[in-house]
Amino acid sequence: MTKRIFRSILAVALAVLLASLGLIVGVLHGYFEDRVAWELESRTGYIARGVEREGMDYLTSGLSRDCRVTWVASDGTVLYDNWQDAATMENHGQREEIREAMEIGKGRASRYSDTLAEETLYYAVRLSDGSVLRVSDTQYSVWRMVLQALQPMALVMALAFCLALWLASRLARQLVAPINAIDLNNVGTVESYEELAPLLSKIRGQNRQIRQQMADLKRQQEEFAAITENMSEGLLVIDRETRVLSRNSAALRLLGGRPDGGVGESVYTLDREAPFRRCVEEALAGRRCEGLLEKEGCCRQIIASPVEQDGALVGAVLIILDVTEKEQRDQLRREFTANVSHELKTPLTSILGTAEILENGLVKPEDVGHFAGNIHREAERLIGLVNDIIKLSRLDEGGPTGQWETVDLYALAEKVLDQVAAAAERKHVTLKLEGGPAMARGVPQILEEILYNLCDNAVAYNVEGGSVTVTAADTPQGARVTVADTGIGIPREVQERVFERFYRVDKSHSAGGTGLGLSIVKHGAAYLGARVSLTSRPGQGSTFTVEFPKVGKATE
Ligand code: ADP
Repeated sequence: MTKRIFRSILAVALAVLLASLGLIVGVLHGYFEDRVAWELESRTGYIARGVEREGMDYLTSGLSRDCRVTWVASDGTVLYDNWQDAATMENHGQREEIREAMEIGKGRASRYSDTLAEETLYYAVRLSDGSVLRVSDTQYSVWRMVLQALQPMALVMALAFCLALWLASRLARQLVAPINAIDLNNVGTVESYEELAPLLSKIRGQNRQIRQQMADLKRQQEEFAAITENMSEGLLVIDRETRVLSRNSAALRLLGGRPDGGVGESVYTLDREAPFRRCVEEALAGRRCEGLLEKEGCCRQIIASPVEQDGALVGAVLIILDVTEKEQRDQLRREFTANVSHELKTPLTSILGTAEILENGLVKPEDVGHFAGNIHREAERLIGLVNDIIKLSRLDEGGPTGQWETVDLYALAEKVLDQVAAAAERKHVTLKLEGGPAMARGVPQILEEILYNLCDNAVAYNVEGGSVTVTAADTPQGARVTVADTGIGIPREVQERVFERFYRVDKSHSAGGTGLGLSIVKHGAAYLGARVSLTSRPGQGSTFTVEFPKVGKATE
C-alpha cells in the first residue's frame, strides 16, 4: 500500500516535471527561434547596407565567418559565398527565400541544407541592383541557446525531483500510518480519516458479529461437552483418516485410554482389537457396524456409523457401551434356564419312573403307599421349586404388587417359627425368639419369605438337638433381625456363593432344598432396601443378619 501510494505520487510528480520541462523547452525554443530570426534579419540588413555601399569589397574584407553570407545575382548566379566557392555553386534563383526576396524585397525560409547538412534558417533581402543578399544560420544555434538556458533549470528540476521523491515517500507513510494504527479488535477508539468511517463502522459491526458467533459457538461447545461428558456411553467422532476429532471421557475410560489422549491421534491408539478395527473399517466404508469387545472381564459394545456430508463420507461416529452387566445378566439367565430345566427334570423323572412301576402293576399292594408317598414328595418339591422360581421372577421384574406396611419383625418371626416348628421338632432342634418389637417398612409377603427361608435353612442345615435363635431388635440405624443356628456352618470360600441361584454347598446335605431360598432372601432384601450379611464357621453354625433402613427412610 505504502509503495503503491509512493509510486503514484512519484509518477504524478515526474509527469508534472516532464510536462513543465517540455513546456519550458517549447517556450524557450520559440523564443530563441524568434531571436535568431530577428538577429538574422538585422544582420542581413546590416551586411546589405555594406554591400550596397562597398560591393564585393565589403564582403571580402574580413567579414565574420560565424554565419553564412551568400550574394546572388538577379539571375540566380551565386556571386559570393563566405563558406563555399561561389563558382562551384549551382544557380540559387529558385531558392524559396531568394525568389521571395526578388519578388517582394525580402524572403525567409527554413529547410534542410545539403551544403551544411543541417536545418538552416535563411533570410534574404533584395539589393537596389536587383541582386539578393542572403544570410543563414543553423537551427543548431537555437538548440544550443535552449540548452544553455536549460542548464540551471535542469539543476532546479533535479532538486525538485529529489524533493518530490522525499515528499512522496513522506506523504505515503503519513497516509498509511493511521490505517496501520487501526486496532481491528478495538476499532472504536481510533481517530482516523473521515473517509474510513464507513469501513471502520463495518469492521465494528463485523467484530460484534464475530464476537457473538464465537460466544454462540463456545456455548454450543460447552453444551455439547456437558452432554457428552455426562454420558455414561463413550462417544468418538473420527475423520476419514481415523483421526479422533472429538471424544468424551467415558470413551477413554471404557477403552482404557490415557485421560489426555485421543484428539488428533489415530483412533487405533485407543484400541487395536480386531472387533474394534472391523467396526471402524466398516463405518469408514459407509456401513453401520456393531461389535463386542471383551477384555479384562469387561464387555463393551461398539456401534459404529458412517457420517456423510453432502453425500460424501467424511468420517464415523462410534458409540461405546458398557454391556458387562447385561452380558453377565444374560449369562446368568442362560445358566438359570439350564438349571431350572435340570432341577425340574429330576423330580419329574422320579415321578414318571414311580408312576410307570405302579402302572405296570409291578408294586406289591402293601408297597403302593410308599411309592405314592414318593410321588407326593417329588410333586411337592416340584411345586416348591416352581413357587420359588415365580417368587424370584417377580422380584426380578420389580417385586410383587403388595402394599408397603410397617411390620413388627418380632411378631413376624414368631409366626415364621411356628411354621418351621414341626420340622424343628422332627430334628429335635430348639427354636428361640429373643429381642423385642422391631418395626420395619416393607411388603409383608416379602418380609415373611425372607424370614421363612432363613429359619427354614437354620433348621434344615442344623444338627440333631441343635438350636435356632431368632433375635429382633430396633437399633438407631433401623430394625435388625438375626437368625443364628448351631448347624453345619458354611465354609468361608463359598459364603458369597450361597446367595447365587441354585447354588448348594453340598447337594447331599441340601435337605431337599431348591437352591433358591437364599437368592430370594438376597433379592427380597434388596427390593426392601435392606442388607443381608452372613457369618459362619463350619461345624459351629451360621448367623444371617438382615438390617432394615430406619422407618421413614425406606424406599416405597
Ligand atoms: P436350599 O434350598 O438348598 O436350602 P438356599 O439358597 O436356601 O437353597 O441355600 C443355598 C445353600 O446354602 C444350601 O444348599 C446350603 O448348602 C447352604 N446353606 C443355607 N443356609 C444354611 C445354614 N443355615 N447353614 C448351613 N448351610 C446353609
